[in-house]
Amino acid sequence: MRLTFLGAAGEVTGSCTLVETGDSRFLVDCGMFQGGPEARQKNQRALDFGFDVRQIDFVLLTHAHIDHSGLLPRLTMLGYKGPIYATPASIALLEVLLPDSAHIQEKEAEWQLRHRRRRGKNERGIPAPLYSVAQALATLSQLRSVRYGVELVPADGVRVRFHDAGHILGSAWLEVNLGGEGRPRRLIFSGDLGMSDRPVLCDPEKVVPTADVLLIESTYGNRLHRSLPETEEEIIGAIERTRAASGNLIIPAFAVGRTQEMLYTLADLVRRKRLSPLKVYVDSPMANSATRITLDHQELLDPETRELIAWQQAHPAQMKVEFVADVEASKALNEVRHGAVIISASGMCEAGRIKYHLRENLPRSECSVLITGFQAAGTLGRRLVDGARLVHIFSQAVPVRARIYTVGGLSAHADQAALLNWLHGFHKAPGRTFVVHGEPGASAAFKRAIEEQLGWSAVHLPLPGESVSL
Ligand SMILES: [Zn+2]
Repeated sequence: MRLTFLGAAGEVTGSCTLVETGDSRFLVDCGMFQGGPEARQKNQRALDFGFDVRQIDFVLLTHAHIDHSGLLPRLTMLGYKGPIYATPASIALLEVLLPDSAHIQEKEAEWQLRHRRRRGKNERGIPAPLYSVAQALATLSQLRSVRYGVELVPADGVRVRFHDAGHILGSAWLEVNLGGEGRPRRLIFSGDLGMSDRPVLCDPEKVVPTADVLLIESTYGNRLHRSLPETEEEIIGAIERTRAASGNLIIPAFAVGRTQEMLYTLADLVRRKRLSPLKVYVDSPMANSATRITLDHQELLDPETRELIAWQQAHPAQMKVEFVADVEASKALNEVRHGAVIISASGMCEAGRIKYHLRENLPRSECSVLITGFQAAGTLGRRLVDGARLVHIFSQAVPVRARIYTVGGLSAHADQAALLNWLHGFHKAPGRTFVVHGEPGASAAFKRAIEEQLGWSAVHLPLPGESVSL
């Protein structure tokens, strides 16, 4: 058997692992590289995947995030005609996320073209979109739904189970049992793991007791998250101070996951009378779709969240949530001068309607911005976190007079303690462990933590593109 680490080795994006056995070849995830010009080059390099994609028998997808799914349309464009297995909720999210990813790429290419023409430059060298909206839509027909816990037999001698990973709606860690080549082997792919005891989703399901091969994510392999009560105090402080100053509170949030988690947290604080009644606007078409999909899959939510949804429906005046659909209604929000809580995307303030709300509210000292998620270097969100006094939005200089709050405890990823706790579920060390999906420092620190705290050996940090025979 051979494993090839095609992405998310020494970095957090581009998850894609090729598994080859004597009898079958398959991919686990097929993600896009994200974040800056370097990622663009890697996506371009990955254009042909370096192998004949028609020889792949099937694809297993851990979850819908673009850094795990975003190159699937590229795979099908190159001639892959087989099934792509994912949970029903992942499929519902992919129906929104993949066409959106294509749309963003098409818009970006158009913008580059206009920009070059305006400057009288030639049009060579503009990276073409990796795929079109039509190609993304065509890929959806190859998705096949698999429920948690149900055994899937995608090929002779291969048995797969998807288990709840508690990371985003529909996310899974995978148990792959290979029966060929004389001796059975079990592979565990962690995908991305969530935190336990956090709102909205169920806790990650405990791992099986033994494995021959483990791939474990390490996004926060070197960090501990702030606790939920501390995070709640920070949110309450931001809302109360903004109310007292008669301003608006703007919350940039990822459309999938963070928006729903913020809605839960705010409603829960109102229910517990830690906050007085609130009016919240969710202004992002993607967040509206993701929230609808979440409500369509209430069986996947934890019992506290289902109970809170019932409370919210019984007390609509306590927390009014308005999902803003069209652009005109979004623009009308600019007229609201105080008392509004506006959740909008994108999460790092780089695109989408959030930019309009920031342009309108950042210059006003009575307003606040609540940063709830990771902000990559070079993004507008990061500049705000770093204390910039002047930013540029739509080529316009915008002074920052609003107060910027950063809350640390909301994360869709398990921290070091939670990852180790999950690994404690193994009764003995897996034969080989590969630490993936982390910046080099985080992955190396997590490898050390595994060795020191669990006493495991045979823990490896794979290099990008490395193949390992097992
Ligand atoms: Zn993810």
